[in-house]
Amino acid sequence: MHSAERTAPRDVVIMGGGLAGLTLALQLKQLDAALDVLVLERRAHPVPHAAHKVGESTVEIGAHYFDKVLGLGEHLRGAQLRKFGFRFFFSEGRRDIDQVLEIGASRSLTVPSFQLDRGMFENFLGDAVRRAGVHFVDGALVEQIELAEAQAGPQPLHRLTWRDAAGEHHTAHTRWLVDACGRAGLLKRKLGLAEPNTHEANAVWFRVADRIHVDEWSSDPAWRARCDPPARWRSTNHLVGDGYWVWLIPLASGSHSIGIVADPARHRLTDFNTFEKAMQWLQRFQPRLYDALDGRRAKLQDFAFLRKFSYGCKQLFSPQRWALTGEAGLFLDPFYSPGSDFIAIGNTYIADLIARDRAGERLDLRAGVYDQIVHSFYDSTLTLYRDQYGIFGDPQVLPLKVIWDYTYYWGVLSQIFFHGRLTDIALLGSLRAQFLHGQRLNLAVQDLLRVWAKVSPHTTRAGHLDHAALPWFAELNRSLTDTLDDAGFRQRIAQSVRQMGQLASEIAQLALACDATLDTAPLRAVLADAPADAAPREPLLFAAALEAA
Ligand SMILES: Cc1cc2nc3c(=O)[nH]c(=O)nc-3n(C[C@H](O)[C@H](O)[C@H](O)COP(=O)(O)OP(=O)(O)OC[C@H]3O[C@@H](n4cnc5c(N)ncnc54)[C@H](O)[C@@H]3O)c2cc1C
Repeated sequence: MHSAERTAPRDVVIMGGGLAGLTLALQLKQLDAALDVLVLERRAHPVPHAAHKVGESTVEIGAHYFDKVLGLGEHLRGAQLRKFGFRFFFSEGRRDIDQVLEIGASRSLTVPSFQLDRGMFENFLGDAVRRAGVHFVDGALVEQIELAEAQAGPQPLHRLTWRDAAGEHHTAHTRWLVDACGRAGLLKRKLGLAEPNTHEANAVWFRVADRIHVDEWSSDPAWRARCDPPARWRSTNHLVGDGYWVWLIPLASGSHSIGIVADPARHRLTDFNTFEKAMQWLQRFQPRLYDALDGRRAKLQDFAFLRKFSYGCKQLFSPQRWALTGEAGLFLDPFYSPGSDFIAIGNTYIADLIARDRAGERLDLRAGVYDQIVHSFYDSTLTLYRDQYGIFGDPQVLPLKVIWDYTYYWGVLSQIFFHGRLTDIALLGSLRAQFLHGQRLNLAVQDLLRVWAKVSPHTTRAGHLDHAALPWFAELNRSLTDTLDDAGFRQRIAQSVRQMGQLASEIAQLALACDATLDTAPLRAVLADAPADAAPREPLLFAAALEAA
């Protein structure tokens, strides 16, 4: 059956009302309440709590987007959990958690992030977009799309057909069409935009209806008192080993999310792709977690896996008024939880393009530049993960990698987002030399870390590398809350890139001190080629801090 067609075209139709689609709808209405936005979501609302979707841990950009850009702080602070940063334990094969190296801050750093129960969040967002005047239809399956390019007429519109929960068919016409339907990738498939990458990793995950209290894994009072508050359980805890990591993420609904993510060259997916096999695998590789889960088997809520989860996309934004956001476009790797960051960035660009289109601006140039910028973020971020899983079990090299990756993330990408400069292409263009130098430094450091982990002794040791005790690192996090004019923003990027140079140089020294045969020449060549104001100046005394840990 086909209902009477609505003749008035929509301004925007968003296919998929998950995290990316619902937040984009909200952002659009906040920017322009007059926009007519339709969101079509396949699942019926309310969706279940806890065992709904992965994408539970946020980092600074995503958290800032939800909290400050969309103004959802009340829900985040009242209904979700404040995250106690990220935390890593070199706990492979060990039950004595207090005798392994721990990386993570002893107190919360300035900028908040949150653990999201995705079911609770999407239900909240569904209500919020309806209140904002969005036409949000749940239980609605998009079946066919016809893009405006394929149609005749002076003002061609995109056309799509969808089926509602009662099985009735509908047609919608729209000026803008956004694909936010996740891995279903409707537009990507239609336009052949899929772009595989060479990052091979697989994941399994499950939820248990109980808390996993990492803080209670040792009775040693000194170990327990390391963190203030003693609330490691609110961190995204990573239990790391060679070629894999295991996540522990608490959810506000009272459940805990657990995932195993591994490089198939070291750990085959078939070794842990059922709950029983995952438990056997944990018993061998992460026995302390196995102990915690063994008595909670009856509380298992779900189990899922995903083979080769990482992929790219040839194009995300088109001047022909279509766009892709969230996992409908690209996804990298959950190790540092960047999924929500890419939603924040993609949505901000889409909202900007739609606003400019409404103002009558041509989009040809701008849509292309935004696409290039996101792809450059994607390429840089991919280097953090690709061929890097061999580092994860290395207590010498991983601490450096984490510091390096975060210095780059907070120093450059986060500064652009927090200071609202994402769409200022003239300003970003004027900083091109700095950004390029940062990228080249990052590539050279990632290469060195990867080779270093192959020769380092992987010596385990007890201890705590406390990020809150690295003043420059804590300050870098805090600096995201500054208010900067253009001159201040330029100075900030130059300062960050200088800081990266200093850190890179100290990493090279540490690598050579560990193994004098390591080739640091490529990194030194990049360092020597720094733009005038990006040359390292002040030491970070990073090496000294590491020794003290
Ligand atoms: C193993 C793993 C771990 C991850 N961990 C994290 C993390 O800790 N932190 C983080 O930030 N990110 C993480 N991510 C990424 C995160 O999952 C994504 O960023 C996020 O879920 C993407 O949201 P989305 O809205 O694009 O997709 P989804 O949330 O999947 O939403 C897409 C929606 O489209 C709907 N849909 C599909 N087809 C149709 C159709 N034909 N018609 C109508 N509706 C349709 C679906 O029902 C769905 O609700 C992880 C990803 C993986 C693979």
